[in-house]
Amino acid sequence: MSIQNIIDTVKQFGSVEATKELIDLQQKMLDAQQEIQSLRNENHALKEEIIANKNMVDIDDFLYNKANPAFRGPFCHGCWGIEGKLVRIIFQDTHQKSHNQVYICPACKGKHGSIAPSEERIDKILD
Ligand SMILES: [Zn+2]
Repeated sequence: MSIQNIIDTVKQFGSVEATKELIDLQQKMLDAQQEIQSLRNENHALKEEIIANKNMVDIDDFLYNKANPAFRGPFCHGCWGIEGKLVRIIFQDTHQKSHNQVYICPACKGKHGSIAPSEERIDKILD
């Protein structure tokens, strides 16, 4: 017997107080169902975040994704750490005589100045 059936039965026999109690109980069940769904959604998102974090690898301060060889980076540490977004950083030619390379994040404009690891080193670590 559903709660609605109980409500209908109580209404038929005229117990106003019992009807109010059942309506209140039904509302609490609906609230609990919504809370369960919300927690399921959050749980799913957190599981995906854990999987994504396991796939991220730091090589010489450059961030790479080992899960997708076609989209492996380097990515912005800041955008990944704060927003969970994979934003590929872009090499910027500064025309300086320094050996350091400067990479810029097109989203947060963060600079990533360092010497990027070689493709061979990246392949060795990610494979
Ligand atoms: Zn960024």
